[in-house]
Formats: sequence, structure tokens, C-alpha cells
Amino acid sequence: MSRIPRIVILGAGYGGILAAIRLQKELNYNEADVTLVNKHDYHYITTHLHMPAAGTDNPENARVNILKLIDEFKVDFVKSTVTQIRPHEKKVILEDGTLSYDYLVIGLGGEAETFGIPGLKENALNIRSINSVRFIREHIEYQFAKFKREPDRKDYLTFVIGGAGFTGIEFIGELADRIPLLCKEFDVDPSLVKIYNIEAAPTALPGFDPELVEYAMKVLTDKGVTFKIGTAIKECTPEGVLIAGDEFIKAATVVWTGGIRGNHMLDEAGFETMRGRIKVDEHLHAPGFDNIYVVGDCSIVMNDEGRPYPPTAQIAMQQGEAVAHNLIASIRGSQMKTFKYSNKGTVASLGKGQAIGIVGSRKLKGNVAAMMKKVVDMRYLYIIGGIPLVIRKGRF
Ligand code: FAD
Ligand code: NAD
Repeated sequence: MSRIPRIVILGAGYGGILAAIRLQKELNYNEADVTLVNKHDYHYITTHLHMPAAGTDNPENARVNILKLIDEFKVDFVKSTVTQIRPHEKKVILEDGTLSYDYLVIGLGGEAETFGIPGLKENALNIRSINSVRFIREHIEYQFAKFKREPDRKDYLTFVIGGAGFTGIEFIGELADRIPLLCKEFDVDPSLVKIYNIEAAPTALPGFDPELVEYAMKVLTDKGVTFKIGTAIKECTPEGVLIAGDEFIKAATVVWTGGIRGNHMLDEAGFETMRGRIKVDEHLHAPGFDNIYVVGDCSIVMNDEGRPYPPTAQIAMQQGEAVAHNLIASIRGSQMKTFKYSNKGTVASLGKGQAIGIVGSRKLKGNVAAMMKKVVDMRYLYIIGGIPLVIRKGRF
């Protein structure tokens, strides 16, 4: 290669932005051309999205201008949508052009997994991006406004959240906080509002500590949430959801938080995938491609028991840093690192002042856990944007 290598990073999410920031810190200017492609000119803090979705926080607080995070002298930013990846031609097709690369980092994030359940794709809302959560917030407010014009339509005030994983639970915590405010604003009797959380598994937050799950369910039940556990959603229509036992819940709002899969473009590109995600090797390469790295929700990393780690921001960030290290190693001909995930714990919010978590071997709940959640959020802002970003976007 006579010219300097071209590195293209697809997606400025947790994995992509960490890779870009680390490369800009460590590469000398004449070692590589780095290009970051993202469909928006902002990075969104996915881990905050349950709040603007419910309307308990402003969407502005969940996004950061990418040009505030990268140094344009070191990383070129291209605001565009990737439409196709051509791994054998070393090309990426954008909505408005083509990029060639020597090294590619795929960090395009996940998509809602609907498991082929009829009507979910068409009729349910998803918490996935700034635009999607703005839509959910506006939709919720509009249901209250509509109810005032048609007071016999109780389904306008019925909210179904499909899936009691962490996304569902965190969103419900916020929604349950917002409902009393909306009732006041729209002069609606709070007893008319119903929030259902429907979970197919025998427990909410499957696999998480049972004592903390019980605590979370109690907090949310006290806020007015009705759980239907061990009850799968079988179909979603514009009128509501059909659940196991052939019960139909009439609801004008269905938010699907039943799981995620990788980006559809990975299947289309011919990679071997499991639910749209690529099982990467120990250096985070896509199998068979030493020049393609995959991070975050598009990737699968196995734990020591041979089971996939859950797709989280935490693992995406660590992968982003590891990929940057390995890219530099390939360019300089030095030693690559084997990726080893280090689990720092899990903390999930249950709404204002309430959370649950496990950090190290410690179980946390209530206000202490809620404070820990803030610390985790601030730490992330500090990592990507230093103290100025903590001051601008931190929720103190
Ligand atoms: P993402 O962060 O999803 O970023 C993907 C990027 O790619 C985005 O910028 C997107 O705009 C861009 N993109 C997508 N398609 C295209 C395209 N075609 N062209 C160009 N750009 C494109 N994990 C935790 O560890 N802790 C938490 O507390 C936590 N809370 C969460 C709360 C919620 C409400 C949700 C939904 C998830 C939460 N997660 C949490 C999971 C975590 O957010 C994801 O695992 C993480 O965002 C994955 O990072 P990523 O880099 O793979 O992709
Ligand atoms: P998930 O896959 O973790 O949970 C989805 C839930 O939906 C599961 O409990 C599943 O049993 C249920 N479900 C699936 N099909 C169903 C059906 N037909 N009817 C009813 N329920 C059904 O997905 P998620 O909650 O979106 O989380 C995605 C990833 O993001 C996970 O790795 C999670 O750990 C991570 N996350 C972490 C946090 C945090 O750490 N605070 C917050 C949000 C998300």
C-alpha cells in the first residue's frame, strides 16, 4: 500500500464514537485517513432515551453534536446514511455516494426484533433513536388530547409496553412518573389510565437478580403499572394487542421493547449472522475478513460458557477502544489485543429517585442505585467529551 490506509467507521454510536475518539488521540496525522459516517450530525445517548420517550426529559439532553466530540483535523465526518456494505469490493455505498476503505469498523447499532409477530412492525412504537422517542412522546400527549374530545375511548389512555427487559422497565418507570403530570395538564381522572407491561418469560428482567426484580416490580406496581408476566404478545393491531390466553387489550399506544437484533445490512452484505449480528473473532474481526471489525449491537461476543454477552453500551464502548488499538496495531505492525469484556455492573432506572443495580458483588436499590445511575451517565459524558460535556449535558 503506497498511500496511507483509509479507515472507515460506520455509525457514531457507543462503539463507533469510542473507536473514532481513540484513533484521533493515538494516530499520527500521516498514519491513516479516518472517516466517520453517521446518518445524523449528532451522537445520541441511547441509554437516556427512555426519558425523552416518556417526556420526562428533553431529547436535546440525549444528543451531542458529533463535531463537538471529534477533531476534524484528524477524523473526517460524513453525515450520510449507509445503504450497502460490499465487503469483497472494500466499498460502502451511501445514500449520496460511495466510500472505499482499507479497514472498516461496523457500528451501526441494533434494530427492533419482532420475531415475526404479526402487526408489531407496523403498529408498535420503538425506543431506538432521537426521532423515534420524539414521536413516542408526541403520540402519548396526543392520546390525552384525543381523549378529551372522545371521552368514551378509554383505549386512548391505555398504554401497553411489550417486554419487561431493561428497556421496557426503564421506560415504564418514566411513563408512570409522567402520567400524573399529563392527567393534571389535560384534566383527566388518573384512575382511567392503564399501563400494562407484558412479558413472555416467567419473570420480569429474566436472568437478573430475583430480589432486585421483585423490588423493581413493587416500585412500578405502586406507581400504577399492571404486569402480565409469563404472557406473550401474539399479535399487534392498530386497536391493541392479542396476548396469550386469547385476551385482547385495546390500547392506542403499544411500545415494543421485546428485544433487538443486528442491522439488516449485515445479512444483505453476505456476512454470516445470528439474528442480524456477527459473531466476531478474538480481535473483533468479522470471520474471514481481517480488515473488517464489528462493534456493539451488530456484534456477538461469547462469554466463557459459550453464551453471547447481552448487547449493551458498556460492551460496545470497550469494543470501540479495543478496535482502535487493533487497527493501530495492524497499521504499525505491532501486537493486537485479544478482546476481553470486563463487566462493570448493571444499573437500571425505575423513574425519579428509584433504580436497581449490581455493581461488583453489591446489590443496590432505591436512591443509592439512582445516584449510581447518574454517576455511570456522567462517566460516559466525561469519557467522550470531558468536563465541558458533563457540565452541558449532565443531569445533576
Ligand atoms: P448505537 O449506540 O445504537 O449507535 C448506532 C449509530 O449508528 C447511531 O448513531 C445511528 O444513527 C447510526 N446508524 C444506524 N444506521 C445507520 C445507517 N444506515 N447509516 C448511517 N448511520 C447509521 N446499555 C448499557 O450498557 N447501559 C444502559 O444503561 C443502557 N440503557 C439503555 C436504555 C435504552 C432505552 C436503550 C434502548 C438501550 C440501553 N442500553 C444500555 C443498550 C445500549 O444503548 C446499546 O447496546 C448501545 O447503544 C449499542 O451501541 P452501538 O454502538 O452498537 O450502537
Ligand atoms: P431484552 O432482549 O433484554 O428484553 C426483551 C424482553 O422482551 C425479554 O424479557 C423477553 O422475554 C420479552 N419478550 C420477547 N418476546 C415477547 C413477546 N412476544 N411478548 C412479551 N414479551 C416478550 O431487550 P431490551 O430490554 O431492549 O434490552 C436490549 C439490550 O440493552 C440488553 O442487552 C439490555 O441489557 C440492554 N439495556 C441495558 C439497560 C441498563 O443496563 N440499564 C437498559 C436498557 C437496555
